[in-house]
Amino acid sequence: MNIHEYQAKQVLGSFGVPVPRGFVAFSADEAVAAAEKLGGPVWVVKAQIHAGGRGKGGGVKVVSSIDEVRAEATRMLGMTLVTHQTGPEGKEVGRVYIEEGSDIARELYLSALVDRATSRISFIASTEGGMDIEEVAEKTPEKILTISVDPASGISGHHGRQIAFALGLEGEQVKQANALIGNLYKAFVEKDMSLLEINPLVVTGAGDLICLDAKMNFDSNALYRQKDIVELRDLAEEDPAEIEASKYDLSYIKLDGKIGCMVNGAGLAMATMDIIKLYGSEPANFLDVGGGATREKVTEAFKIILSDTNVEGILVNIFGGIMRCDIIAEGVVAAAKELSLDVPLVVRLEGTNVDEGKEIMANSGLPIIAADDLNDAAEKIVAAVKEAA
Ligand code: ADP
Ligand code: MG
Repeated sequence: MNIHEYQAKQVLGSFGVPVPRGFVAFSADEAVAAAEKLGGPVWVVKAQIHAGGRGKGGGVKVVSSIDEVRAEATRMLGMTLVTHQTGPEGKEVGRVYIEEGSDIARELYLSALVDRATSRISFIASTEGGMDIEEVAEKTPEKILTISVDPASGISGHHGRQIAFALGLEGEQVKQANALIGNLYKAFVEKDMSLLEINPLVVTGAGDLICLDAKMNFDSNALYRQKDIVELRDLAEEDPAEIEASKYDLSYIKLDGKIGCMVNGAGLAMATMDIIKLYGSEPANFLDVGGGATREKVTEAFKIILSDTNVEGILVNIFGGIMRCDIIAEGVVAAAKELSLDVPLVVRLEGTNVDEGKEIMANSGLPIIAADDLNDAAEKIVAAVKEAA
């Protein structure tokens, strides 16, 4: 789960991490009131969307009068902001953050994430802040320092000093960096984050460190114990189909391809997506209906897949272990009839009661294409979509 920049800064502030003062605003009037409370002389108006790169897209403006705060807030609220992270369709801005302007001497990069290769939390630091870290990693990898923290001994002074040194900090700033990194680590662990990115972390003209941007992702498996974080969820930022899927306990992630997939089990779903690519097409989604899929769940899954207008064909790949193949077949047939399915449908069933399942589909009167194994299924759906196009 993701949250907005202003919410992430509130979380950081509660751990003693230095962030600029600011207030969220849902209207131009609220933006003006926020600016008056802050008192200037410089304000920053920042569009709040769950994506970075706002600065380049016109979603971050430094201004020096209340009139400009009103003008920028009016311009940003309701606009569709397109950045390299939103995709071409962009994201609608529903709230802006009004923040005090900082006097920036240097922009640095600092992030923390769960490194699955080492099973540890790693910090990534670079002197090249404010830019795309992916570009820095590609062109000048020597400018990036990665250190991992042993969970048994936790964070300590040497981590902070190592990072401070890599960032070219000196004297008092090293002390500040040490405290900052300790507090970031604490926040990361206590709040079950999966990613915390400060880009830029700045050195001000007065020589102090402050976090000017904050991106936070949380481990969704830990949300049951992070009630205050769940309250920060902004449904307007999430894909409607994904919200609908979560109501039915379906794991659904929308993707860009044209072959809809309905699969049980995350591993099988990944393999299905891979094999679609192998045969030269692209999956439209990841969808795991889970072990105990009922007929209702299968119908909902079909509805969600078909609500994506890019879908030109569906591949159902079910292994009936806990789930019986005849029940799945009934669900598929019922859903296909109810939704008057008009794209090719390939079904591969394997496992308990597979023969009964195949018979139900064969006798359904529907143009369901049966497949014997995963290879056969992928080959058939890719060919059927090509033919139909
Ligand atoms: P994004 O990463 O989405 O572009 P940032 O919050 O990083 O948004 O802002 C982009 C740039 O705007 C920063 O690199 C910084 O130069 C400037 N900026 C952001 N917030 C402030 C602030 N409070 N004071 C001064 N400049 C700021
Ligand atoms: Mg940024």
